[in-house]
Amino acid sequence: MEIADWETRYLEAVSNVREQLGNVQGVFVAYNSNVDAMKHIREEELKKLIGIIGQDKLRERIVEYPREIKDPVDFMARLIIAMRDGKAAEVPTYTTDIHEWLMDNLVFDSARMGGQAGIMSNLLVTLGVKNVITYVPWLSREQAEYFVDSPNLKHPVIENGKLILKHPKEAYDPQQKPKINWIIEFSKGMKFRCAGEEFEVPRDNRLIISSRPNWLRIDMSPEMYEQLPDIRESIDGAILAGYQMIKEEYEDGTTYRDYVQRAVSVIERLKGCNPQMRIHVEFTSIQNKVIRKALLTDIVKKHVTSLGLDTVEVANALNVLGYEELAYSVINKGENSIVSLYEGAVRLLKELELQRVHIHSLGFYICVVSKDHPLGADDQRQALLFASALAATQATLGSIKDLDDISVGLGVPVYDQGYDDLIELEKYLVRRGICTAEDFEDGCISADGHNLIIVPSKVVKDPVATVGIGDAISAGAFVALLAKMPKINICKITE
Ligand code: ADP
Repeated sequence: MEIADWETRYLEAVSNVREQLGNVQGVFVAYNSNVDAMKHIREEELKKLIGIIGQDKLRERIVEYPREIKDPVDFMARLIIAMRDGKAAEVPTYTTDIHEWLMDNLVFDSARMGGQAGIMSNLLVTLGVKNVITYVPWLSREQAEYFVDSPNLKHPVIENGKLILKHPKEAYDPQQKPKINWIIEFSKGMKFRCAGEEFEVPRDNRLIISSRPNWLRIDMSPEMYEQLPDIRESIDGAILAGYQMIKEEYEDGTTYRDYVQRAVSVIERLKGCNPQMRIHVEFTSIQNKVIRKALLTDIVKKHVTSLGLDTVEVANALNVLGYEELAYSVINKGENSIVSLYEGAVRLLKELELQRVHIHSLGFYICVVSKDHPLGADDQRQALLFASALAATQATLGSIKDLDDISVGLGVPVYDQGYDDLIELEKYLVRRGICTAEDFEDGCISADGHNLIIVPSKVVKDPVATVGIGDAISAGAFVALLAKMPKINICKITE
């Protein structure tokens, strides 16, 4: 199929999904929302901060390479390292002291919704989904401000022993402190002197200071947990993210096992008697391998139906599941990396007993679907194309304010390089006798029955912003599938 044919498929898919979105009753989205404080740092500001900390202290700390931010010296050392190398980095901090220091000495340019669950909740409301029930265990007054104003967005609260739904601005806990992450962006070409050396930033990039105060828990109150089934009737599925916040051990003696168990119980409660309830988990990079493995083998496996991830995350997931060689070939961007990605997706589908694995990369999206998934290849493909048009819209505009904005994304051309990668995979599958060229375009069913759906994506040359595009892709594709799902209330039928 030619690129022009893909463009036609895009138009059809977006038009179909738009018509069907009204079929979605609702989506539950949890857990991680935070406030992103954005700062584009300038040369004079950097010079001032280096002056406050002092060159000698900084020199020592840069050599030590702090893995967490305990004080302003750690912060400045990681900022200098990120700027020197032009590399993106995310470093946790477990106190709110650094936030106060940054407020006193730097101040942010702007603030916005951050965190996968927060970003996806707002996007779903913007797309017109009727009931978006968002849940943040640490809903503060400041956090509530960043949710879009819409009666379709609700947060559960317990009042007089009963679960009720209210807009986050009416549901926050006034005692709760906000979780504020700092995103410090820097530009290529910035020059600075530090520890006796002269540096020039080689690439635009960013340092994220992610706030992990000790009150952060992936959890809910016992009353809310008990009454969670009350929301089941108003949702078709759930998107869950933020499990990377789980720590191995807590000060009160609890461990990750307690929180993994609670996370599974929440999923069970959401499903109730309806095994058809769609549960999507959005993966992310998790440095701690114990937590990464526990998320995959204890939370995702058997309990979740759908998993979304990018290519680096595929490698990280394969790695902890014992497929080191495959993980290596996924990130080793050789000619065969698309083949390895496909094989990795199949491994994840099988190993984690999923119905759907959706991988997004710059240029194409791969989705492998088990034979027991209720939707066929056409519907799956349309969901991916809709997601790609959303991603291109977000990359062009910076944020999506209305579903009509999607025409902007539709106008972005299909990415040649992604199309070429597709052809690479097609040749491989045809050579191996896994499917014919015709099958490849319509969904490629393997001998054991799983189906491969792959689309070339639309890529924006000079994106306004790239943060949160992965979340838009996964949430967009998931909600498009919910819109297409046959509506059978199994609980009612079996009663
Ligand atoms: P994030 O967590 O910030 O959303 P991810 O790595 O999960 O980051 O997702 C980034 C995805 O966004 C990529 O896989 C790619 O599909 C998409 N993307 C990135 N840049 C562009 C762009 N310029 N145009 C269209 N899509 C993009």
